[in-house]
Amino acid sequence: MVGRLVLLLLLLGPLGLAGAYWSGFWRPPPAWDLAAPLDIRAEPNLLTSWKLARMELQPESCAEAFAASGRSLRRLPDRSSDHGCPLENVVRLEGDGVTLQPSRPTVTCPMAAAWALFERHALQPAAERHFNSWVVAVRHLGSYACRNVYGRAEGRRSEHATANALDIAGFTLADGREIRLPRDWDRGEAGAFLRELRDGACHSFKAVLGPDYNAAHADHFHLDRGRWSRCS
Ligand SMILES: [Zn+2]
Repeated sequence: MVGRLVLLLLLLGPLGLAGAYWSGFWRPPPAWDLAAPLDIRAEPNLLTSWKLARMELQPESCAEAFAASGRSLRRLPDRSSDHGCPLENVVRLEGDGVTLQPSRPTVTCPMAAAWALFERHALQPAAERHFNSWVVAVRHLGSYACRNVYGRAEGRRSEHATANALDIAGFTLADGREIRLPRDWDRGEAGAFLRELRDGACHSFKAVLGPDYNAAHADHFHLDRGRWSRCS
């Protein structure tokens, strides 16, 4: 009898919650609400990657995430292309306390959201852990480039061709220290920091390719929000 009652409660509990949710009577906290925009400030959870992926299908949900997180967003006009390199839903990437050098790159809005998560939940915590400092500048090697993968004459377009990728190569800490690729990849604490960044970036970006991937990525991390998942 008790067993049946427990079973009934187990069945009705989720059904009741689902009913309350869909009827609008009850909402979970925003971080656990599928319908709520991504909050960049909230600790990432099981729904974070789902909400990031949704931005590709519902572009407006990206701008909503920045608004819900109290972050400004500098949108840029779309640009068509005859060469498979259109710019759609792009923004000027701005760090939150981090300056991107030598310039603020143009990236897709989902890339900017992924960057914001990475900066807050991976980059700065790693700098604190390894150096008891924080990152004030990130040196990048570019985001938008109308080209194929590896610049080959044939083959598929790179994620860079639609500004859906960013290559980063160095970090400046608040105390002036510089950590950069490829110099520091195998250097003690700096190397451990870089590996932690690589692994942390995999929670925000779809593909993260660094020195462990191949020689073409020895001097930078390639980050993108494309179709292929790869972390190495
Ligand atoms: Zn790249």
